[in-house]
Amino acid sequence: MKSDELFETACGLMPGGVNSPVRACRRVGATPRFIASARGSHITDVDGIEYVDYVCSWGPAILGHAHPAVVEAVREAARDGLTFGAPTPREVEMAALLRELVPSLETSRMVCSGTEAVMSAVRAARGFTGRDDIVKFADCYHGHSDGMLVKAGSGALTGAEPDSAGVPADYARHTLVAPYNDIEAVERIFAAHGSDIAAVVVEPVAANAGVILPKPGFLEALREITSRHGALLIFDEVITGFRLALGGAQEYYGVTPDLSTFGKIVGGGMPAAVYGGRADVMRTVAPEGPVYQAGTLAGNPLATAAGLATLRLLKADPDIYARLAAKGERLARGLREVFGARAEVPQVGSLLSVSFRDDPDVTFARWWRLLLSRGIYAAPSRFEAMFISDAHTDDDIDLVIEAAKEFR
Ligand SMILES: *Cc1c(COP(=O)(O)O)cnc(C)c1O
Repeated sequence: MKSDELFETACGLMPGGVNSPVRACRRVGATPRFIASARGSHITDVDGIEYVDYVCSWGPAILGHAHPAVVEAVREAARDGLTFGAPTPREVEMAALLRELVPSLETSRMVCSGTEAVMSAVRAARGFTGRDDIVKFADCYHGHSDGMLVKAGSGALTGAEPDSAGVPADYARHTLVAPYNDIEAVERIFAAHGSDIAAVVVEPVAANAGVILPKPGFLEALREITSRHGALLIFDEVITGFRLALGGAQEYYGVTPDLSTFGKIVGGGMPAAVYGGRADVMRTVAPEGPVYQAGTLAGNPLATAAGLATLRLLKADPDIYARLAAKGERLARGLREVFGARAEVPQVGSLLSVSFRDDPDVTFARWWRLLLSRGIYAAPSRFEAMFISDAHTDDDIDLVIEAAKEFR
């Protein structure tokens, strides 16, 4: 197998043989497939094996892989030059389209990754409020910046502890961690630290810990508590943005944050991400204000072209979110029928996950390997969502349900 040969070579050249840890497939006791190409809902590895793809590059491929209009937009941009380090017309079009689709993005800035977007939004919140602490939730992932790689400290009201080597405890202690959906814990943290808290950062659907939906009233309560204490509310919409609705989770749930972050879909498969929100807060960002943030490749012409093309296709298709949700429901319903009490299958729109009750790690690993053997490529971790694209057919969906029927 070419994949195995490549992996062996890669392991001597890159940490774990990969450029992002989950790709190593260690959690499911496997080694990675190396990918040669992808089109629509299908992905093909270097050994010529084709799979129905439920990773979708972790979200960006909402229109399916290599959508012709997106690829053409990138080709066209490439012909004019790859990067200038100076403003381009497309960036203005992007900022205007973002504000049209997500009205809370009064002003926004492009960066290159979701990690950078969250890190920058948090810095803007700190600069604006003059406060140092932030609140995050244990089940949420916000990229790998120092202050976000933390776990709850020994006491609920104390600062967090590093969740990665190399993160100074002095950074971690400025992050306070609450359990997702636990509004009383948030109230307690604010009662103890309210005047020091710059912002609450939350995934409006926790999509990096399986898929955990916000309890009714949770996001509304965060909105109310932050406003009451003069802190900002930051929605990390890197996954939910342009996936649950054109206006993201903030439109879907009807709760408006002060700042939000976007990634994945907003780059249309290229490295682009966005943070933005209230104009008064964003005015603290350089060169208008004292919060420094910059990027050599920020607003890169190719990435902006891919993102713009993707967002325009989503906007031009008023039924797309209903179609995506119908597919998500078809898959979730089918899996629930087959698995019954064996597994939970939380789903919202085109995001879902499968969480086995008994021996969840081992059972998931067996499930993942069965899927792979049936020509289905799913995220090699039970904490990652399955992503459905507009290119997935009912047959693609039913293939997973048929596999579930064989799963012992
Ligand atoms: C993927 C993700 C990030 C990090 O984005 P990168 O582009 O991988 O740096 C941040 N927040 C959420 C919610 C994500 O899903």
